[in-house]
Amino acid sequence: MDFRLTDEQQEWRDHCHRFALEVMRPVAAKYDRDQSVPWDVIKESRKWGLSGLDWVQKVGMDEDGLFGVIYQEELNWGCAGIALAVNASSLAAAGVASSGTPEQIAEWVPRALGVGEDDVKLGAYAVTESGAGSDVGSLRTTAVLDGDHWVLNGTKVFISNGGIADVTVVVATVDPKLGHRGQASFVVPKDAPGISQGKKEDKLGIRASQTAEVVLEDCRIPKENLLGGMEKLEKKLERARSGQSSGRASGALATFEMTRPLVGAGALGIARAAYEWTLEYLEDKSDEGGPLLEQQRVQQVLADVATEIDASRLLVYRAAWMGRAGIPMTGGQGSMSKLKSGDVAMWATTALMDLVGPYAQSTDCPLEKWFRDAKIFQIFEGTAQVQRLVISRMQRQAFQERLKQAAEVLDQAPGAATGEPVAA
Ligand SMILES: Cc1cc2nc3c(=O)[nH]c(=O)nc-3n(C[C@H](O)[C@H](O)[C@H](O)COP(=O)(O)OP(=O)(O)OC[C@H]3O[C@@H](n4cnc5c(N)ncnc54)[C@H](O)[C@@H]3O)c2cc1C
Repeated sequence: MDFRLTDEQQEWRDHCHRFALEVMRPVAAKYDRDQSVPWDVIKESRKWGLSGLDWVQKVGMDEDGLFGVIYQEELNWGCAGIALAVNASSLAAAGVASSGTPEQIAEWVPRALGVGEDDVKLGAYAVTESGAGSDVGSLRTTAVLDGDHWVLNGTKVFISNGGIADVTVVVATVDPKLGHRGQASFVVPKDAPGISQGKKEDKLGIRASQTAEVVLEDCRIPKENLLGGMEKLEKKLERARSGQSSGRASGALATFEMTRPLVGAGALGIARAAYEWTLEYLEDKSDEGGPLLEQQRVQQVLADVATEIDASRLLVYRAAWMGRAGIPMTGGQGSMSKLKSGDVAMWATTALMDLVGPYAQSTDCPLEKWFRDAKIFQIFEGTAQVQRLVISRMQRQAFQERLKQAAEVLDQAPGAATGEPVAA
């Protein structure tokens, strides 16, 4: 096993890092204060090949699956809010890719991402509702077929790029009695009648990313905008009604599963930014005990932060590699990577603020922003508590599976049926 990045991966990391340093960092504080959409950075990211369809294709080229997580770590090192503004559209693209037919993918992924340097398009992925985020089975937004159109009604809350997206992928229920098995995904273009932006959130962190309600009031979209098509939906509903197992997670759950290591990598970028800044800041600081970096109380904290960041990165890389290699994450490895990195980002920014002291409370100190930005990584794409539930259930299931396999091996061993001792 070789833990080193390849030359190509290192070049990609350096490219992403330069964008974060030269384009994002200089405007990070401004967009954090203004809470406005960083259009100039989004447009510039096209020129650098760091958003849009070309970027998604580039990320898909890496056979180890690491381009995406390297990108996320570096851009979130630059600014987590701007990073989400630049790449939240990929969630919509993933929603289309996981549920759509090949024709739908070819049509809607470019419309959600934009193609080339000048075609800036945004996508949004709208699942969460008031009272239905972790509990995705109880969505209340409805989709009803009316002739050649679907009619959508409901309100989605806390949607990244909500209201400004060119294409919103909406998860709605076709048959509420069936829980998540009665749900389907729909592509809704910005100019569809009945879609509008509701309340825009005034947030603690990642303020450069627009988060808003998406309101659907008798929103009419063509029948063809059902992702996966009518025949697939009818079969799925039929299986659910007859009590047969679906054999696979719902579209929404599958989409989130694919993106968890990417979210973990974002948290990792914040933790690393905070750690590196603190090391530099403390370099020439002293108190009555002497230079701070030579005091054991400070070294203990810094060593723990460095170790936790490395541990998170290993979990993130492993999950990203498993995803690309098609190895099922039966032990909850995707969730582990996101859980660990989110918790580390929150804990590390807190611990580093404690080291720095009162200055860390000031808005002049970048630690204050990183501390605020870190919190969301314990909330979106599955809260930390829900990640723990997922991991614990999957681990239990995997353990039962191992016990079953061991019992089968013993059953087939010579002499197992008769109980006769096996000759040496
Ligand atoms: C800035 C931001 C951007 C977002 N972007 C998007 C987006 O683009 N698209 C989208 O669809 N959604 C988005 N979300 C929504 C986000 O994914 C949800 O808020 C998140 O999944 C939590 O769901 P919830 O809000 O229903 O919280 P709840 O599920 O109500 O959770 C409330 C609390 O209860 C805990 N809890 C819930 N169930 C359990 C359980 N069984 N056991 C233990 N504890 C539990 C949770 O961990 C949490 O602490 C965004 C949210 C924010 C804040």
